[in-house]
Amino acid sequence: MEKNNQKPNIVPRPPVVVVVGHIDHGKSTLLDYIRKTNLTESEVGGITQNISAYEVLHKDEKGVDKEITFLDTPGHESFSKMRERGAIIADIAILVVSAEDGVKSQTIEAWRTISEMKLPSIVVINKIDKPSANIEKTKKELAANEIYLENYGGKIPYVEISAKAATGVDDLLSVILILSEMENFTGNTEEDASGFVIEADLDSKRGIQATLIIKNGSLHKGMFVVVEDAITSTRIIQNFKGVMIDTASFSAPIRLCGFDRMPKVGAAFQTFKNKKGAIKYIEERSPRPADTPRYKEEASTPFLNKEGVGGGKKIIPILLKADVSGSLEAIEKEIAKIRSESAEFKIIVKGVGPISESDIKNISNSKNAIIIGFNVKADKSALEVAQKRGISISFFDVIYKMTEWLIEQMEKLRPKIETIETTGRAKIIRAFSRTKNFQIVGGKVIEGRILLNGTVKIMRREFEIGRGKIVNLEKGKIKTSVIEEGLEFGMMIESKIEIAPGDILELFSIAQK
Ligand code: GDP
Repeated sequence: MEKNNQKPNIVPRPPVVVVVGHIDHGKSTLLDYIRKTNLTESEVGGITQNISAYEVLHKDEKGVDKEITFLDTPGHESFSKMRERGAIIADIAILVVSAEDGVKSQTIEAWRTISEMKLPSIVVINKIDKPSANIEKTKKELAANEIYLENYGGKIPYVEISAKAATGVDDLLSVILILSEMENFTGNTEEDASGFVIEADLDSKRGIQATLIIKNGSLHKGMFVVVEDAITSTRIIQNFKGVMIDTASFSAPIRLCGFDRMPKVGAAFQTFKNKKGAIKYIEERSPRPADTPRYKEEASTPFLNKEGVGGGKKIIPILLKADVSGSLEAIEKEIAKIRSESAEFKIIVKGVGPISESDIKNISNSKNAIIIGFNVKADKSALEVAQKRGISISFFDVIYKMTEWLIEQMEKLRPKIETIETTGRAKIIRAFSRTKNFQIVGGKVIEGRILLNGTVKIMRREFEIGRGKIVNLEKGKIKTSVIEEGLEFGMMIESKIEIAPGDILELFSIAQK
């Protein structure tokens, strides 16, 4: 117990908890209840729509308030991302099973992921208030699926609850604290923060924003955050309630805006004390190609590179059945050759013989899975199940045809990379009258060109301070739709930001590749 004394910065860390289980078994009801009962009305209101994680306080056995972070992502996206990337975003998984319905396909699927990742877990038997609830039967079904509860042949802690009638939820929070104490999650407060992205989106006013979960270290205003090849400053840090904060540490969810490209959900982030360190890190990970069509010596955008999706590729699962093991091997080699920047195929089930019903059931929970039969048929029951679940099976008897088809599928299924391209820059020379949403300014195009109706980043000393839209553009008092490099202009810009002489406007477009 005293071993932590040698490293005073290493302290216990609140657990990050993910709630999983079959659809309709009550995950959202449970998360909603915990959120509502642990936050005040105004705090609940303050949680911006998109922040899909929250922290609650619960008293431990000694009556001390302890934090728990819950991931509350739509469709439990971060859990599947965790699995795709092997990223340990959550420390503890709560597997919710309805006492009315018992173990279902997604229960088993979620359990498989929990076991593969060796995640500490707690089973929640929910809906015990329902007249048709059968707790004993549910426990038996769990055991039949090798989910062994405490006192039922195993060690997995479990809690019987009704998320709707709010019974047992307090016990659940206590069990979470006991389990995390046993697991001894720790973090180092002195290190620069690192962790994972749990959501990212493009907001019309704030630009590209992301919610991050800090798993270690601390983050302060003025630092820089890198996710693969996306970067932002920490000029604005918000906590999960939407409140501006100056510093954050584990296991807090935080929101940052102003990323130069869309960070990927599930990807790891790293924090740097200065921009130089951040850029060096990005360039070491993925050197910028020589033909990058951007401003070469541009200090404000050197980190915009074209390539570099980084390590976290999307996995497209494949189930492969073939007539003989020889063709199986040949096909595997062909599949391994099909690559893209942002996705890769992974054969998760393979074998010789016809496609069976259990093959389909095995793979039907994997999103976007591809099922291939090479010189084999599918059993009738397999076809029926596949049809019922909307899964298609593709049959081939020539390898190159299959390869061609797979290349097409890769193009269809791979994540498209979103990049922001700067196409023009202008310096503001004069700033005139301003209303709440509009301002008239004069300036000169210093690179590229400026277009009417274009969206611009408003940059002040290398930092984006806001965005705006060019709603009127004039050259020598005559309306125009484009101003070329080197020319002066007057414009009306729609923005809530007050623009000042010296500011730079960067015209940008978002491209999908
Ligand atoms: P999810 O798909 O797992 O997120 O499930 P939901 O939370 O949306 O719950 C599905 C349905 O079950 C909803 O109609 C809930 O009101 C209901 N439900 C959830 N928990 C309970 C419970 O403990 N008791 C009862 N009676 N109904 C519940």
